Amino acid sequence: MSKNEKGIWVGVIPSTGVLIVFDPELQFADQKTINVYSVKRNLVREFDPAKIRDKVRTVDGLQREQALEKYFSWKVANDAELMSIEYSKLERLRIERERTIERHREFLIAHGYKYLGIAVPKKRVNRITHCWNCKSHLDNAIDVECVSCGWIVCRCGACGCGRQDH
Ligand SMILES: [Zn+2]
Ligand SMILES: [Zn+2]
Repeated sequence: MSKNEKGIWVGVIPSTGVLIVFDPELQFADQKTINVYSVKRNLVREFDPAKIRDKVRTVDGLQREQALEKYFSWKVANDAELMSIEYSKLERLRIERERTIERHREFLIAHGYKYLGIAVPKKRVNRITHCWNCKSHLDNAIDVECVSCGWIVCRCGACGCGRQDH
């Protein structure tokens, strides 16, 4: 476990005086929330970044050092907790993957196609990065590919089938 302070940020919520530590090593790319260590409670909680963004103030000097000291001793002692954050990330991905497959099935039926099942994509470079249907960024983390057209399936359920301009 590294005691690398790179990218680590310490802040305080002025209304409550609660000290929090943000560590990039606690974050996962698929999450919309952020994982923040609470110095007072000595645990990591999920926060909605929009809710704390305007409320927190950066903390420096001795207060930062003390917060980091407590954080690093928590970090060293809580490998298991970090593993459980990793586990819940995998669990979320599994659920999201199942939902995507269901949406994909509904999408195909709605566009007059047969659902033939899904495939696990082969790793390719330069994939399509945006969904034509919902315009959102195509996230490979779900890792579901349409058997018919070979496109990565978007979280909205869309693939290449039903696209008009082919
Ligand atoms: Zn989409
Ligand atoms: Zn398709």
